[in-house]
Amino acid sequence: MNTATNHIDCKTCRTHMPDLLLDDAFVAGHPAVAAHLAACTECTEELQQLRSTFALLDTWTAPEPSAYFDSRLHARLREAVAEQPESFWERTRSFLLFSTGRGLRPALAGALAFIMLVGGGSVGLYQQHHSAGPAASVSATVGDLKILDNNEQALQQMNQLLDDSGSSSDDSATPPTT
Ligand SMILES: [Zn+2]
Repeated sequence: MNTATNHIDCKTCRTHMPDLLLDDAFVAGHPAVAAHLAACTECTEELQQLRSTFALLDTWTAPEPSAYFDSRLHARLREAVAEQPESFWERTRSFLLFSTGRGLRPALAGALAFIMLVGGGSVGLYQQHHSAGPAASVSATVGDLKILDNNEQALQQMNQLLDDSGSSSDDSATPPTT
């Protein structure tokens, strides 16, 4: 009898427990494990307990969530995502207003208002870009270009008016001299 390969200890047998549980053909392919299980009641008992636990887990089914769970969860997620930029400023404002000393509040509120004024444009652009994608930034750029174009047109019209009045006064002034 080949004792060197046919005898394994309990520790080695326990390491093969997952294989024994998941693969029914494992015992047939590993005679040393089969021999140890046949000789060792502890390991056989351990394997039986694991098998009964697995059988119990097979019968267990997760409870079904209510029919509206997914839609309600997604709605709340969308709300949370949409609210986030506002609530950040709200949280910053309330933190500065309510968590600091009484004397510092007006100065901090003024500083925060100044920060919001200075950073408002870029923050607004970033939020638009972030929430609505490239279309929002394109439309914002187009809007800026339109404003610039309107300003250009207004300047040209003012120049035209000035030129017209100047030339008309010249025209009215020139006939008597010639
Ligand atoms: Zn054993």
